[in-house]
Amino acid sequence: MLTANGLTSQWEVLWVTVKKGEKRIIAIDHGADFVSALEMYQKVTDAGKKLCTLRCKNIAFPPPERFVDMEPVYAKKRGKLVVVDEVQSQPATFTRKMDAYNAQGIWWCPYCMKLRRFEKRGWSEVDGRVFETEAHYCCPMCDISHNDWHVTKYNPLAQRIRNAKKSRGRKSSGRRRRKRK
Ligand SMILES: [Zn+2]
Repeated sequence: MLTANGLTSQWEVLWVTVKKGEKRIIAIDHGADFVSALEMYQKVTDAGKKLCTLRCKNIAFPPPERFVDMEPVYAKKRGKLVVVDEVQSQPATFTRKMDAYNAQGIWWCPYCMKLRRFEKRGWSEVDGRVFETEAHYCCPMCDISHNDWHVTKYNPLAQRIRNAKKSRGRKSSGRRRRKRK
């Protein structure tokens, strides 16, 4: 599958198994073969595996249309401006409904293409080893962090957490001016 910007999309199928009480994420790479990934996704879903995910490894997808911000359309009636309709924001923004979800701890993972409860972590796994890192929020299935550009694009709370961190950084570097919203 080739995308508009010429990238070949890379796919993997993930699910969760529990063995002897221990939770493990299984991830099977399908490379650029979307059809085989989709077939496996359907198989594991039919088999009743937990948290089945068909995930794109290199392209982020926006939340479904129902999360797009709606903008009022005005018209003059008897000399007064009144709202007569609403239309989707152009370009599509995802601030209001997603913010309500974010407030409940639910985030949009643009790679799993699912709503997920992101986990707070102070570690990351690199090449099978676990390293201590700065605290961050991440997708429990694919580990993408709230700092990812696309995660912040679709999750207003992730954007605010990143901005808050930036302004703290400025303060500690000796600059006193603080941005007010
Ligand atoms: Zn994810």
